[in-house]
Amino acid sequence: MHEPDQHIIQGRLADFEKRCRENGLKMTHQRLTIYRELLSSRDHPAVETIFQRVRRHIPTISIDTVYRTLATLEEAGMINRVDTTEGLVRYEADRGIPHHHLICMKCHQIRDFIWDAFDTLPRPPEVDRWGQSVARNVVITGICRQCYEQAEKK
Ligand SMILES: [Zn+2]
Ligand SMILES: [Zn+2]
Repeated sequence: MHEPDQHIIQGRLADFEKRCRENGLKMTHQRLTIYRELLSSRDHPAVETIFQRVRRHIPTISIDTVYRTLATLEEAGMINRVDTTEGLVRYEADRGIPHHHLICMKCHQIRDFIWDAFDTLPRPPEVDRWGQSVARNVVITGICRQCYEQAEKK
């Protein structure tokens, strides 16, 4: 997991300037730092968590700036907002790999999973009648193994 991961991170970072230019964004130190932080996070952090992590590199950054930067990067398609059942918004960097999410209702951990069969499933005619689909994402909510095994022990 770590080798290809490093590879993807390096590639995306190298593309950052180009992608900013394509989206008419100035490449700022803050944007780069937030983007890099998300690229190396696998836990789909909430805004508050991203803020804490970025603050280690830029102590003067405000949470408002983090919010604004996340919105900008999301609009540019460089990061994705992950839909959760809880009220919190969580983010991940776009790695160009289609995947879906497993969300534990107890510990709120979000994990990625690949579902090739679903990705290639033909769309129901209803969807095409409705309009043009851009993305298909599956969210599976439940209790992760760690949480239910812990509950059984009690
Ligand atoms: Zn859990
Ligand atoms: Zn994900």
